[in-house]
Amino acid sequence: MDRDIIAAISTAWGEAGIGVVKVSGKGSRNLVNGIFRGARSLLQTPPRHMSYGRLVDGFGEAIDEVLVVWFMPPKSYTGEEVTEIHCHGGSLVAKRCLEEVLSAGARMADPGEFTRRAFLNGRIDLAQAESVIGIIRARSAEALKAATRSLSGEFSNRVKEIYEKIMNLSVLVEADLDFPEEDIPFLDNSEAVERLQQIGADLSKLIVRARTGNLLREGIRIALVGRPNVGKSSLLNAFLSEARAIVTSIPGTTRDVIEEVLTHRGVPLRLVDTAGIRRPSDEAEAIGVERARAALLEADVRIWVIDGNEPLRGEDREIASHLAGKPHIVAVNKADLPLEVSSDDIHDLLPGSTVRIISAETGSGVEDLKDDMVRLFAGGGTLDEGLNTTARQLEELRLAGQAIGHALEAFAGALGEDAAAAGLSDARKCLERILGISADDSLLDAVFASFCIGK
Ligand code: GDP
Repeated sequence: MDRDIIAAISTAWGEAGIGVVKVSGKGSRNLVNGIFRGARSLLQTPPRHMSYGRLVDGFGEAIDEVLVVWFMPPKSYTGEEVTEIHCHGGSLVAKRCLEEVLSAGARMADPGEFTRRAFLNGRIDLAQAESVIGIIRARSAEALKAATRSLSGEFSNRVKEIYEKIMNLSVLVEADLDFPEEDIPFLDNSEAVERLQQIGADLSKLIVRARTGNLLREGIRIALVGRPNVGKSSLLNAFLSEARAIVTSIPGTTRDVIEEVLTHRGVPLRLVDTAGIRRPSDEAEAIGVERARAALLEADVRIWVIDGNEPLRGEDREIASHLAGKPHIVAVNKADLPLEVSSDDIHDLLPGSTVRIISAETGSGVEDLKDDMVRLFAGGGTLDEGLNTTARQLEELRLAGQAIGHALEAFAGALGEDAAAAGLSDARKCLERILGISADDSLLDAVFASFCIGK
């Protein structure tokens, strides 16, 4: 199917050595050739060979000295005829080149549209397409490895293997349903149970690796909680000062909540600075406090900082009551001073909590606290086996596991093959949505919405 010609700047915005305008679609070479003046026409240039020349506007006026190259389908990123213009870096010049391409008849590409076309043209499956964004956003070597593994198809292949096992089993179950008059069933009960258990185990194994990859990709959102003066800001500084070189500040949803990101064992630790939680003195501040509270609720884990140099107070007990049932770690701070709080005191309030004795001032225990957080989320999976996945893909895997569980119950509890077939079919659909088999537009829109323009 021929799609229209799309174009976008594929390099980052701002000053740089070069800028690349990518143009994809049948006829893109001809289109670019129309605004290109070089020693040899692009139409006479073999694919994947650079041509040097100038890019001109509608009046024949030169915009920039450029290198152009074209790729013959299907050997291109999108699988279509792709033409690239390599111009000088700088926000204005790349923009001018793009404008000329657009006035020559191309359409501005939507976010992720090049990758979407690569998927639609069968170059990659949907799971691979989603890993592209993982590569772009990777914050650590481990996250990059996990994303590269997924792009090369490792995640997709594991999903496909399970998909095929479900498919083979479904065929037998359906056959039994279609031909009930056969004396010998196509599938006996114990074999069905055995196969389903194997599929369930495969899925669980994959979920562990996927969860690790997701952790490397998304990181852990951490909120520091505790009453004033216990050392929250000091702890934040202790986290950050050690990792100064790799710390980045990302403005949160508002200017009131700042997120600092550092990586520990390859996992981005996203520290939400909720230092603003205090009694609001005016309306503007009240909004800030409200947002800080929301950040606290949305955090994956809360570090409750306690002043270990003072006995627990009523305020502490109130904070503890809010933490019960939510993932948290208790950091007993100021361990360089005599300790007035014991682990037992804390376990009286929050049984089973992880308690870490630290000193934000001297830095003792801070490294262990970071390990605690990663351990809490990495679970049984080792970090170097991660497969890059999005939350969406993880959810589909989880639902597939649930559906297989239903099928298993149906066989074991004699609910009948109808129910088993339904479970198998549900599981199949989940995996189809991961791989993008018969994906509808709304699913693709949701997947590619997070992409940048030009990718
Ligand atoms: P916050 O209000 O919870 O953010 O607390 P701060 O980080 O501002 O710390 C309050 C006070 O406790 C400051 O005077 C810090 O220097 C001090 N403090 C913080 N952590 C430690 C620590 O580990 N040991 C000691 N001795 N003092 C600390």
